[in-house]
Amino acid sequence: MIEIKGLAKKFGRHEVLKNINLTIHDKEVVVIIGPSGSGKSTILRCINHLEEPTAGTIAVDGMIAGDVKSINKMRMEVGMVFQRFNLFPHMTVLRNITLAPMKIRRESKSEAETFALQLLEKVGLVDKKDAYPETLSGGQQQRVAIARALAMKPKFMLFDEPTSALDPEMVREVLDVIKKLAKEGMSMAIVTHEMGFAREVADRVLFIDEGVICEEGTPEAIFSHPQEERTKSFLSKIL
Ligand code: ADP
Ligand code: MG
Repeated sequence: MIEIKGLAKKFGRHEVLKNINLTIHDKEVVVIIGPSGSGKSTILRCINHLEEPTAGTIAVDGMIAGDVKSINKMRMEVGMVFQRFNLFPHMTVLRNITLAPMKIRRESKSEAETFALQLLEKVGLVDKKDAYPETLSGGQQQRVAIARALAMKPKFMLFDEPTSALDPEMVREVLDVIKKLAKEGMSMAIVTHEMGFAREVADRVLFIDEGVICEEGTPEAIFSHPQEERTKSFLSKIL
């Protein structure tokens, strides 16, 4: 599990996260919602050490990463998918997926390719294995990005607005892949503005506002019976 205690993050004098306490249990799907600029991405980026916390600890499976070596080890356990897919443009889909497992996990080419093809099957893109990213739609590229993250066999997946950069007709295909992962028991934290999806997949929903967890609960509790004024006000603007 991922255990975050007393996490704070400042950029200069700007306190972006204040005393965040959050545990993501094995097989749990946590959805994070909240206004733009409230600190959602910063939480995910701190989990993966793309940002260094100003205070607090983040333990992944009981280990608190400190030096470069332990950070790299931790990153193998925590896959991340961003709004922008960032596939390597000069590599085929298959190569995009097998690169890190071969380099970092020291898998053989055939081992990495066998698993990559299984993942492409899962995201519905086996027929695109030899294609280059620019020839794919945004939704297809994001599904490859998910397969690429899964190729490292992570225990946790972090998704930061995975469908925000997509044309509306491509949102569903990406959400369906994430939903499938949730059903298979992958532990995940997902930042999203897709409230219908949040309701479908979340075990727990967190509403973040101005760097604090303002309210948390089951999807039913948060979406149908929000308690805090700020949660109500946010939901009334977006639902
Ligand atoms: P969200 O994902 O909820 O929209 P972010 O976590 O991206 O919010 O950002 C929270 C706040 O931190 C914003 O005010 C943003 O401008 C600020 N911020 C994020 N990253 C940086 C950075 N690298 N340097 C300075 N300020 C940052
Ligand atoms: Mg963000």
